[in-house]
Amino acid sequence: MASRQHLAWLARGGKWRLCAPGIQLRDQLRAAGYTVYDLGNEEHLDHQPPEDHTPYSATGWPARTAPYGVVFAVDIMPPDNVARAKAGKPPLPSLQVLGRKLHDDKAARLFPPIKYINWGPVDDQHAVHCSWQPGHAQTSSSDTGHIHISFRTDMADWSGAYDPLGGDLGMSASEIIEAWAVGMPKTSGGSTVEPVKWRVRDEAWQAATSAQLSALTAAIQAMAKGGTSVDTAAVIAAVRDAGTQTNAVVQALQAEVEDLRSRLAAAGAGLAGGTAAH
Ligand SMILES: [Zn+2]
Repeated sequence: MASRQHLAWLARGGKWRLCAPGIQLRDQLRAAGYTVYDLGNEEHLDHQPPEDHTPYSATGWPARTAPYGVVFAVDIMPPDNVARAKAGKPPLPSLQVLGRKLHDDKAARLFPPIKYINWGPVDDQHAVHCSWQPGHAQTSSSDTGHIHISFRTDMADWSGAYDPLGGDLGMSASEIIEAWAVGMPKTSGGSTVEPVKWRVRDEAWQAATSAQLSALTAAIQAMAKGGTSVDTAAVIAAVRDAGTQTNAVVQALQAEVEDLRSRLAAAGAGLAGGTAAH
């Protein structure tokens, strides 16, 4: 049954446009190979109250009644990386990676028009609802299988530079792997290649530890040869000094492990896929 708002909109000619930030995001993602939807299907158009996939949303924000004729939402579907591989195309970032990027870029004020985003940080079968109206709030969501983005009613004509696939997201996996294998500390996009950073750090740690062991061995050999004439106080000081340095290294490593753990949690399950439709 067509809703009152749906019928009224059809009677007025059924015209609509997507808000400007939605057009920009949709077209960037479609160009990359994603399927992106904007105007909702009949179910959306007849839903009460009409929401942001309709050109007559009654759930807008900050204006509850959205500008008439403007659609304020897009849905991004999971990339079919199996089909892409068969076609010889590079894989696209999963919705976990892309959702995290959009979420973090909104939080960092790089893409202000987002009102809320429903996305699956872990996989495409679970979702959370993250809103900024205006403060950030997160709740669980049943809107799974895609990324839903709703835009602010006061930014229908927003135009700013924003690239959802910028940085490493836009880079093919093969470039990261190559940088890793060759030992390049940075990618062409300027991002740090983490495994290379870890290797450099580990090699430095091993060198420092080896030097300390050499110094200790020399001190012990001197003690063994010198008998009572050796400066015992100096040897003890050297051992204590080596111990202090080792503690500092261990503490630095622990801090780095904590940092990596939080970053891994933030990165989520970047390789998850799925084919749910909305
Ligand atoms: Zn949606």
